[in-house]
Amino acid sequence: MMDSVNSNIPADTFLVGLGVSPGISIGESFVYNRARRGIVDRRVPTQQIPEEVERFRRALEDSRNQLRELKAGVTSARLRDHVYIIDTHLLILEDEMLVDGTIEHIEQHRLNAESALKRTLDKFREFFDSIEDEYLRDRRSDIDSIGERLMRNLLGEGQKNLNEIERKAVVVAHQLSPADTMQINREMVTGFVTDVGGRTSHTAILARSLEIPAVIGLENVSALVRPGTPIIIDGNAGTVILNPSPETFKEYLAKKQAFEYLEKELESYRDLPAETADGHVVALRGNIELTQEIPAVIAHGGEGVGLFRTEFLFLNRSEPPSEEEQFKVYRDMVQKMIPAPVTIRTLDVGGDKFVPEINLTDEANPAMGLRAVRFSLKERRLFKQQLRAILRASAFGCIRIMFPMISGVAEMRQCRALVDEVCGELLRENQPFDEDVEIGIMVETPSAALVADLLAEEVDFFSIGTNDLIQYCLAVDRGNEHVAYLYEPLHPAILRAVKLVCDAGRRAGIRVGMCGEMAAEPLYSPILLGLGFTELSMNAACIPRVKRVIRQISRQDGIDVLEQLLKLPTAQEVNRFVEENMARRFPDIFGPPAI
Ligand code: PEP
Ligand code: MG
Repeated sequence: MMDSVNSNIPADTFLVGLGVSPGISIGESFVYNRARRGIVDRRVPTQQIPEEVERFRRALEDSRNQLRELKAGVTSARLRDHVYIIDTHLLILEDEMLVDGTIEHIEQHRLNAESALKRTLDKFREFFDSIEDEYLRDRRSDIDSIGERLMRNLLGEGQKNLNEIERKAVVVAHQLSPADTMQINREMVTGFVTDVGGRTSHTAILARSLEIPAVIGLENVSALVRPGTPIIIDGNAGTVILNPSPETFKEYLAKKQAFEYLEKELESYRDLPAETADGHVVALRGNIELTQEIPAVIAHGGEGVGLFRTEFLFLNRSEPPSEEEQFKVYRDMVQKMIPAPVTIRTLDVGGDKFVPEINLTDEANPAMGLRAVRFSLKERRLFKQQLRAILRASAFGCIRIMFPMISGVAEMRQCRALVDEVCGELLRENQPFDEDVEIGIMVETPSAALVADLLAEEVDFFSIGTNDLIQYCLAVDRGNEHVAYLYEPLHPAILRAVKLVCDAGRRAGIRVGMCGEMAAEPLYSPILLGLGFTELSMNAACIPRVKRVIRQISRQDGIDVLEQLLKLPTAQEVNRFVEENMARRFPDIFGPPAI
């Protein structure tokens, strides 16, 4: 039983957010980057810039005070000779390049104070490294030392990285970037909750990949919780309970056990095909961000990888991965998946996939800016390097290449021309590769959906990326909790857009799959069957649930449901129809929960 460590939070304080990764976790809170603080490498909204400058100035002041105290405390005569070191550090704190440089980074690039400071320090280090004089070069250690002090003061004393947590805990944060989430130690972090974020934000997607229960978009949880506050998170329902009473604790323990029991039961679907009662077969594949997720895809019965988000190879490092490094990653992955295919999506940076190491231009509207394939087509060297790595790996198994955010035929042709160029190079170099490698696109912009018939003539397959397609069709930021209520996968506009793409693909005789999060929702499986999908790609952990539904219904059921709901005018009505209809037809799957 947990102790109630926090008397000023009432027992059973109940919060509602978005359950983005299923499962129940019961434990103590580990508060990370409390109240917007300390999130390394993050862009901030314009109105938050003065706050970030102020935080940096406070860190300077704190550092100055600490050093002065340190100096005053030096009483031993022997040490007094070395006090000049502290003076040097105090002088560095006044340095224009450090102070003005950092503030400039905050203001001009809309960076949080930590990222801005990090960039200034990198500049300093570069400068010192280029100095010939050994003595002067060694002064770099002073910069390192003062840099560390400043950073510590910015982050707050004792702040640990997520991979350094030593006790099992639920992480509570204002926001976790994909880079933060990637550092989570799964042994210790049993769940996480955040103030911000939407269902298809990359942090949510990573939580599902890591199979860690998560509730996000709680708005002020990080301000409420103190380190050690007892907490229950229910990633299925999207609820969080602080300071649970003994009764609540018992209730959730039972729910947790029931959930884990169902998970075990679902394992029995692992080796069965996803085939409907009337013989329609669907290939269920895994979406992965990290190569370490391959075993989970296999364990959950995934038939290959339907989406490998390669941008995650570029996170948490100072240099982009070389062609050779990428080649090895892709090759190992296809070899592990043989004979199933691996669909490798080329770099999709920008939007909420902020990769600090790649110098994206500062844009007012990054979701609609130089992102994804637009960025790759501009940074051709990087793009060609990736294409070479993918094509070389294609000699070792079944690889498909997929381009993100294609908005029309011209863009697709540019990509294909580059693939042809790379193939020519490889041929000349006698490097083996699969000359029939399939090339497809994500359909995730409204323009691509509208010209799907034209695009279908240019590619081997479509994969509908509903996460972005919904965002752009409905003009709803996928990561913004304030408009999360408008993010409606079953909006009539989305159903029509998806149908348009499926019909165009079928007419052209190419494969149409879906790899957005919509594919992972078992409630939608009948609709997707009705639309004619033969490939669905999702987080590995979702595969067994979707498979269970597909195996219990017929394609005709799906066609009937689709016909009905295409007549409904609002997302609410479609939702109600789907929920009621499914609960009635399949009470054992969609009926009210047994507990
Ligand atoms: C999508 O947009 O639906 C998708 C699968 O890609 P991502 O979530 O990586 O943007
Ligand atoms: Mg996308």
